[in-house]
Amino acid sequence: MKKAAPLLGLVALLAAGLAFAAPAPQPVLLTGARVLDPAGERLLDGRDVLIENGRIAAVGATGTLQVPAGARKVDLSGLTLIPGLIEMHSHLLLHPYDETPWDDQVLKEPLELRTIRAVVAAKATLEAGFTTVRDLGTEGAGYADVSLRDAIASGMIPGPRVLAATRALVATGSYGPAGFDPRWEIPKGAQVVDGPVEMRKAVREQIAAGADWIKVYADYRRRPGVTTPTFTQEEMAAAVDEARSVGLPVAAHAYTPEGIRRAVLAGVATIEHGTGVTDELLALMKQKGVALVPTLAASEAVSRYAGWKPGEPEPQRVREAREMFVRALKSGATIANGSDVGVFSHGRNARELELMVSYGMSPGQALRAATVTAAAVLRKDKDLGRIAPGYLADLVAVKGDPLADISAIEQPVLVVKDGRVAVERR
Ligand SMILES: [Zn+2]
Repeated sequence: MKKAAPLLGLVALLAAGLAFAAPAPQPVLLTGARVLDPAGERLLDGRDVLIENGRIAAVGATGTLQVPAGARKVDLSGLTLIPGLIEMHSHLLLHPYDETPWDDQVLKEPLELRTIRAVVAAKATLEAGFTTVRDLGTEGAGYADVSLRDAIASGMIPGPRVLAATRALVATGSYGPAGFDPRWEIPKGAQVVDGPVEMRKAVREQIAAGADWIKVYADYRRRPGVTTPTFTQEEMAAAVDEARSVGLPVAAHAYTPEGIRRAVLAGVATIEHGTGVTDELLALMKQKGVALVPTLAASEAVSRYAGWKPGEPEPQRVREAREMFVRALKSGATIANGSDVGVFSHGRNARELELMVSYGMSPGQALRAATVTAAAVLRKDKDLGRIAPGYLADLVAVKGDPLADISAIEQPVLVVKDGRVAVERR
């Protein structure tokens, strides 16, 4: 037994149950950056950030921190350091609809190809500075998001921290692919359930398969051109109650006032899209602590695919999304950053923040919607979204001042996730 040490290392790995677990990261000192303060409101000049064991150990004026031996020093002079960005609504298992229509992705693309593509999408997301995503449905790709999440978490492949919603839940006749002769049983892009009993069973199945969030479709185009509520109040309540019994929150896709109302009354944590939300419902959401995830970038992308070009008069879909956002902003309801990326290219997540700013948010508010606010909605506000001691070391260095011009986040120079330098471009 000459090589005792490597053997012990192997035993430790096996004990952890992670054959591909990455070794503990070396301490890192990020030095000389302008750092976003913990509240996400202003930049502090000349700061050092010490990272140990994957977390932020200390933040202080440059040159004042006690640095452990063997720490790697990374000079960030002239750069701005912000928390790793959070995407609240991604579909890593989808790719842009102008490449392949959604129906064809769901019905024709092999699961293996879709999963490999998702691996590439995850890398692009991390490179764009998004270190956490809530992935809201695999759209026919089963539980591939759970394996993707676990492969990333074990260090096997690069990517953001993934919170997986798995298959999502829809009512009969309330999801695509649709429009076929009713004789044919066409596979759907989500799990079909009817009634509170089936709802509970499906939520239990998804939890057992590894879901971190449960996603329900509260409304859908059930007749051509008409979006109407799908699940009853009782069905929605069953989903929320079953998820809650294991501590999981529920996200509801909802466009119509009645769909939003049922979801909010059932106790969901977030409303996705929300285009038809009324001022009264926004007040109810604010009162109940339900966050809105506006997905403005998806409305823009879908309009583009339908032939609209930026600069031309605003199409209805874009106008409705913008007007909804303006009302939501005025209402004071919580708005979290989520783009529905996958509808458009992975790695272009920053588009949502740019649209939020062009529709009336300050760059600081938009940045907080993708950091502190998103972390709170994810119930991870002790770990994510701030540059402060004790927080996970998810950090992004950018050129310029994102509090003055949000587009500064588009091209990160450095991305740190879990205390490891994951991307370095210079
Ligand atoms: Zn979506």
